[in-house]
Amino acid sequence: MSSMTEFALARRPAQWPEPEELGFGQHLAPWVVCAEHCEGQGWSPLHAIPLSEARSPLASGGLQYGLSVFEGLKTYRDREGAAFLFRVREHAQRLANSARRLHMPELPEALFIEACAIASRLHEDFLPPHERGSLYLRPTLYANEEALGFRVARTHRLAVIVTPSSDPLPRTITLWAESELSRAAIGGTGAAKTGGNYAAGLLGLQRARERGCDDVAWLDASRWRLSEAGTMNLFVQVDGVWCTPPLDGTILAGVTRDSLLTLMRASGMAAQECSLDLRELSRFEREGRLGGAFGCGTASRVVGIAAVRGAFGVVRFTDDGTIDALRLRLKRCQEDGEPGFTSWRRAV
Ligand SMILES: *Cc1c(COP(=O)(O)O)cnc(C)c1O
Repeated sequence: MSSMTEFALARRPAQWPEPEELGFGQHLAPWVVCAEHCEGQGWSPLHAIPLSEARSPLASGGLQYGLSVFEGLKTYRDREGAAFLFRVREHAQRLANSARRLHMPELPEALFIEACAIASRLHEDFLPPHERGSLYLRPTLYANEEALGFRVARTHRLAVIVTPSSDPLPRTITLWAESELSRAAIGGTGAAKTGGNYAAGLLGLQRARERGCDDVAWLDASRWRLSEAGTMNLFVQVDGVWCTPPLDGTILAGVTRDSLLTLMRASGMAAQECSLDLRELSRFEREGRLGGAFGCGTASRVVGIAAVRGAFGVVRFTDDGTIDALRLRLKRCQEDGEPGFTSWRRAV
């Protein structure tokens, strides 16, 4: 098959899982929407190629030096059956920020939005029905020039990968506070959505699992303050106030984090950015001042946290049902739009 500019609709194969069986990231859609950037020439028009033909050279900055940044966003079907991207502009801006940090060419916002819209339209047949899942889009920008020298590559590619996904089920997890390894440092790349941060974090995830926890809680340089959970931002309720660590350059600025802060404030809930020191949280727990805790991100939406364990001991959280209410409120915004937040959705 050759590259397409006509963007013919892809059809689901006869054997295709039910939305609830899709899971996440396991079933990849057949087409990738691409654009190439050449030094001195700028961006090519968008085109689609089969996923199987989207190879990248072994001797490239993308593979050798981690010169690759990405986004994760979703297209949902509303109750009328129409498809909408959620907060695509914020994702475009964040990809541009990530690219700037890695000194890669920036992608115009309009090109990013159009690439995501085309990737969604092409695979509309793969988009699960209302409330039963989404198309998860993974726009990736990487250096693909075939050359080994460490320098700015002369060619880069944007490729939007699509994976039809199940609606994430509500769940509650336990975190392990990692006090030896770190994911990010001040001045580093923690605020960029780039593979290198994940590479730095995989061993921490493994260590958390070996200790019987589901995910890792990264700490800041003090080794006491909660930072994030690697693929999710964190919220903890203290004295009835929802707190999330400030964006100090070591934390990924989650779009879900921002959506929840906005929704909480709009519904009169107290929400702010503040440091979450494990020693203080332990004291708040003893004093009965600690409420719920959750992690949030595009892929998993809102995930309850029962406890954070670590070398320091354990902090346990108690949820009074607020977290599930927040999860449902966010889900409504994402899937049907809520009055006041309709600008968060963009028709594909
Ligand atoms: C993508 C990501 C998040 C969540 O961001 P959302 O925009 O809410 O999906 C949190 N932490 C890290 C490290 C991430 O890469």
